[in-house]
Amino acid sequence: MKEIFLLKLGEIVLKGANKRQFEAKLRSNVRRRMKAYGEFDVYLMQSTVYVEPMNEECDVDGAWEACRSIFGVVRLCRCRPCEKNTDAIFNTIEEYLGDELDCAKSFKVESKRSDKAFPLNSIQLSQEIGGRLAEAHPHVEVDVHHPDYTVFVEVRDLAAYVHGPAEPGAGGLPTGVGGRAMCLLSGGIDSPVAAWMIAKRGVEIESVHFFSYPYTSQLAKDKVLELARLVTKYSGRMTVNVVSFTEIQEAIRDNCPEEYFTLIMRRFMMEISQRIAKEHGCGALITGENLGQVASQTMEAMTVTGAVVDIPIFMPLVGMDKEEIVTIARKIGTLETSILPYEDCCTVFTPKHPKTKPTIGQLLNAEKRLDREALIQRALESVEKIQVKYHEDEAFC
Ligand code: ATP
Ligand code: MG
Repeated sequence: MKEIFLLKLGEIVLKGANKRQFEAKLRSNVRRRMKAYGEFDVYLMQSTVYVEPMNEECDVDGAWEACRSIFGVVRLCRCRPCEKNTDAIFNTIEEYLGDELDCAKSFKVESKRSDKAFPLNSIQLSQEIGGRLAEAHPHVEVDVHHPDYTVFVEVRDLAAYVHGPAEPGAGGLPTGVGGRAMCLLSGGIDSPVAAWMIAKRGVEIESVHFFSYPYTSQLAKDKVLELARLVTKYSGRMTVNVVSFTEIQEAIRDNCPEEYFTLIMRRFMMEISQRIAKEHGCGALITGENLGQVASQTMEAMTVTGAVVDIPIFMPLVGMDKEEIVTIARKIGTLETSILPYEDCCTVFTPKHPKTKPTIGQLLNAEKRLDREALIQRALESVEKIQVKYHEDEAFC
């Protein structure tokens, strides 16, 4: 008998009037996501998305791995369906979970009956199945308080399903229910984590990367594209807008006071990103900024860099410690790539004594020899749009 997955919905079950729309979005995200792994039937009932392989050719393990990174799923389990009677349930557990049970010191059965026509209630069903399993595995104790292993039985509309402990899902909200935002993606640890955190809230992600060839190398650009690809495991495909930033950086170096280099550069980044964001229908920018981490991340610096845009700038890492950010980067799989030692354009022309408490007036004065608009226009003309997706065959989003 085949295995199927049950994906349990998270906070989306609480969303009142939006519930249907959210559920439909999640179901279609799962459907598209599964296409790369074979023919799966994906349907939604009782706040659960069912993922059922339709033939032997399906890559079930690949599909399972993909399901673990779909936002909107709070818990998921691989299970075996069977007929809704106690003999079938017992036999299926024996066949499917018997080895697991044998390895455990103690166990219990936890049942849930959402089909109220089933003759036993949840407690009776747990007792009945638990008793039979205890007889069949006399060396494994029954412990209803702190069991080493729990066997779950869910009696639902179409069938009964048996499984071991569920795994945590990616959480958050289904991709696409929260609009779209443009992430300023550098090659560092922070910005991919920031993108992931906003994506988790149901937001589609596009990104922009500022590239200063020959000061930064092709390897640095490839690294950013790889980081974007790793984020798309969760967020669905994205476009990376690679902006040639060399001319702007050289113009700043040649025309502006050194202590303002980074701030002026960041104001260009924000303004260019906003224009590309609007072109892509993005309603916000995302950065990996973090209060106090570097000189350009003071409140005053954020004020002058934020002043050039009129859409929200999401900084989901602003109050986190580096350790917390690194933990997430490791969990989502971006850390190893982020710590590859290629330079970022921010590290080119870094001032020795950057201004940490700038004012808008000082910035306008420091920028006055630049033809901002012409520089921005040429940078926008240089944009290279690169489509990135996690899986070659994936049609997600
Ligand atoms: P990260 O680890 O994301 O590089 P950081 O701690 O190094 O962040 P900064 O280099 O000051 O901090 O950059 C702050 C934010 O500005 C980044 O998180 C990112 O959102 C954006 N940023 C920096 N450099 C670039 C770049 N070359 N292209 C696009 N965005 C960038
Ligand atoms: Mg950086």
